[in-house]
Amino acid sequence: MKSKRVLRRAILVRLYDHLLDAYGVDGPREAFVNGQLTVHEIDALLAFKSDPRIDELRGALDRLELGQFGTCIACKREIDQDRLDDDPVLRLCSQCEQLYSHMRVVSHQTTPPGHVI
Ligand SMILES: [Zn+2]
Repeated sequence: MKSKRVLRRAILVRLYDHLLDAYGVDGPREAFVNGQLTVHEIDALLAFKSDPRIDELRGALDRLELGQFGTCIACKREIDQDRLDDDPVLRLCSQCEQLYSHMRVVSHQTTPPGHVI
C-alpha cells in the first residue's frame, strides 16, 4: 500500500485535471495537488458542481481520510495497487467487480421494460 500522501496526490491530480477539462477551473495546481488547500478551499472550487466524477473522487478522498481507501467495499480485501493506479476511485476488487458486472447484465436481461406486455 502506498503512503497516504502519495495516494492523496494521485486523487487530487485527477480531480484537478477533471476540473480543468470539464469546467476550465484555473486554480493553483501545485498547491491543489500537493494537498495544500484546505477541504474548505477545495469545496469552494467544487461548489455547485453536480458531477458524478467529482463525487467519485471526493468519495475516494473521504475514504482515504477514514482509512478505508483501497479496500473492497464488498469483500473487504485489498484492491490491487495496479488497478488503483489506473483509477483511484475503484471501490471493488477485480473479483467482485466481475461478479457485480455479471449481476448487472443478468438483471438487465431479466427485467422487462414496464410498457412491454
Ligand atoms: Zn471484493
